[in-house]
Amino acid sequence: MSGIQSSVTLLGTKGGPAIRPGSARPTSTLIEMGGQTMLVDAGLGAAIGMAEAGVPLTDLDAVFITHLHSDHYLELGPLLHTAWTAGLRHQIPIFGPPGIEHYWQFFLNAMAYDIALRTEDEGRPDFHDLCVVSHISDERPIDMQGVLVSAMRNDHPPIEDSFALRFEANGQTIVLSGDTAPMPAMAEFAQGADLMVHEAMLRDGVQDLVDRMGYADDRLMAHILRSHSPAEDVARIAQAAQVRALALNHLIPSGEPGVTEETWRAAVSGLYDGPVHIGHDGLVIEVGEQP
Ligand SMILES: [Zn+2]
Ligand SMILES: [Zn+2]
Repeated sequence: MSGIQSSVTLLGTKGGPAIRPGSARPTSTLIEMGGQTMLVDAGLGAAIGMAEAGVPLTDLDAVFITHLHSDHYLELGPLLHTAWTAGLRHQIPIFGPPGIEHYWQFFLNAMAYDIALRTEDEGRPDFHDLCVVSHISDERPIDMQGVLVSAMRNDHPPIEDSFALRFEANGQTIVLSGDTAPMPAMAEFAQGADLMVHEAMLRDGVQDLVDRMGYADDRLMAHILRSHSPAEDVARIAQAAQVRALALNHLIPSGEPGVTEETWRAAVSGLYDGPVHIGHDGLVIEVGEQP
């Protein structure tokens, strides 16, 4: 067993795209493992989150987008454009579901004037060459210079191309659930992981959240309930997977008055034997610390 540490920094921890005064940021997660700095999802605030975590944007080695809900990729283009203006010189692969290439092409089109201007006028390297988009596959793991990244299609209707990711290096394993309803296969996919970061919701909190949006019908409520995981189920999956630690992330609700860390702890209490981290923006979780 290696004593080399990996870490996960939760840059954005709320579920869903809306932000309000006092709310957490939409989803983005930084993984530092095996010498690689990898960003998983790029919700609004990802770039500022990296800066606050003390990680230069130019240190990025790869970006993974788990699925095409805006809370997971709204800032992908702005983040990489900002890395470029911060002095990025090496190529960054972007791995995402089918359709990610359209977002990328339209982002380049939207910023064409500025990109051409800065390339000519400031002598910057060609931005188009710096980012290479390819698809996540649940059949072929990606080898990121010794970090093996495998994907499993999760359960996030109506989106079909939505993935959980498993990162392995130096005998350590980190699993990110992505957005998903509870699925027994997650316990196998995460089996024995040093850390599982799993999305979580509080059933009671969802009703308050939906009431506040004031929509005319119950489609938002139905979407949330069928495509996300109650915290109790997450704890049971962590127990079945025998993971060494669990982090709750993509929290629904987030920033709701009366919902505190204790509310989340109460929801998972007695269901999972290991340590539980309740996500908040900027939380750093060290992985593979030897006792
Ligand atoms: Zn989401
Ligand atoms: Zn989603």
